[in-house]
Amino acid sequence: MKYEAVIGLEIHVQLNSATKMFCDCPNRPGDEPNRNTCPICLWLPGALPQLSQEALEKAVLACLALNCTIQPESAFDQKVYYYPDLPKGFQLSQHHKPLARNGWVDIVMEDGGIKRLRIHHIHMEEDVAKLVHEMEGKTPISLVDFNRAGTPLIEIVSEADMRNPHEAMEYVKTLRGQLRYTGSAECSLEQGTLRVDANISLRPQGTDEFNTKVEVKNMNSIRNVGDAIAYEITRQTECLEKGEPIVLHTRLWDPEKRVTSPMRGKFSGPCVPDPSVPRIVVTQDWLKEMRGRLPEMPGQKRVRFLRAYGLTPEEASNISFERDLSEFFESVAKQDLPPRKVASWMTAHLLPALRDRNQTIRETLLTPERIARLLSMLEKDVINVQAAKEVLQKLLSSQETPEEIVEKGRFRQVSDTAELEGLIDRIIAGHPSDVEDFRKGNSKVIGFLMGLAMKESRGKANPKLLKEILTKRLG
Ligand SMILES: [Zn+2]
Repeated sequence: MKYEAVIGLEIHVQLNSATKMFCDCPNRPGDEPNRNTCPICLWLPGALPQLSQEALEKAVLACLALNCTIQPESAFDQKVYYYPDLPKGFQLSQHHKPLARNGWVDIVMEDGGIKRLRIHHIHMEEDVAKLVHEMEGKTPISLVDFNRAGTPLIEIVSEADMRNPHEAMEYVKTLRGQLRYTGSAECSLEQGTLRVDANISLRPQGTDEFNTKVEVKNMNSIRNVGDAIAYEITRQTECLEKGEPIVLHTRLWDPEKRVTSPMRGKFSGPCVPDPSVPRIVVTQDWLKEMRGRLPEMPGQKRVRFLRAYGLTPEEASNISFERDLSEFFESVAKQDLPPRKVASWMTAHLLPALRDRNQTIRETLLTPERIARLLSMLEKDVINVQAAKEVLQKLLSSQETPEEIVEKGRFRQVSDTAELEGLIDRIIAGHPSDVEDFRKGNSKVIGFLMGLAMKESRGKANPKLLKEILTKRLG
């Protein structure tokens, strides 16, 4: 039997408000342990939580960016469970009345088509404390760090609309891009400010039943999200083929061994309305003001880039996807360079370089000004494309100017006609049989000889000039 996967994602996103959700402690979980605490976020009895206006606004912007409808009234519940990272015994979350419902994002499918993936709802939630397991001599100990306790989260619950790992990865990527645009969240899987839990079940292809699902956690990169889902689909397929039933449980992805394994379940109790935090009432006027605060979003920017700069649809999508990158592009293009050339160079060379290093543009030493100077040397034929690629690699992590790198690394292009003629003559003299082949009509030889000449110049010959001279000498 052929099976089809049914995948839904629950994504926790840490909002980057200055303070925690219900107190004035700094929202900096990475500080020295237990530094950012007070009676409210240590959850001492009698301390009254006060909802941060900034956290609420950032949550609303995030919901609007994901095309959700903000609910006129939402409220907090106490999600009851006991665990050492939650000593008060309940987590403030929105279960019965979430902040927003019915959103969506559009993703690009493997075949290039667009698919709309629905978001069921988004609710606000406080994070729990962090447990640190260590050894004290030979004794294992567990420590609790309350810096993260009470930091603001939103949980984005999708519909189970995804059918394969590719769609799930695109969903996370697109959603992350949209959220970063709002400035509400950093959304780093690596640093844990965006955490993905995947619910996966299988059904016979062509049916629309929902079978028992398995939850997979602990994927700390987009690639891991795809790999964990692919692994889980294979594992469940094997279970079903052996006639073993699928049991509802949670599994952890092991990024080293690249497998999922079952984890111990937490006791989880009921959700009861919380009496201490006032309900959130949203007026139309306020909502209008919040909408006004949304920046130009990737979809709108893409259309503007197509029209204003004449980019190809692919370039416009690639460059508008992340806000930092789109702003970088516009700053470079402003420095008297043809925008189309900047866009195609960024797509062909800069984006792959960032992907290889697994960095965003902000994490490198690149500035629009340095890239503009590099591209203007390329425009003026001071260096060729190959050299520009190598200089870019150095610019990513070096403080030197592009000009210094070009001089030091001898990247300057050879455009001296006499020098290139000498080079070509040597190549022609050294390959008489290839030259004869060419004269008999084998035009491929020209590419071969070009390659030899380029290699001889250690990649620095001006390719246009080189080809001109070679064609003239052969003809
Ligand atoms: Zn506090």
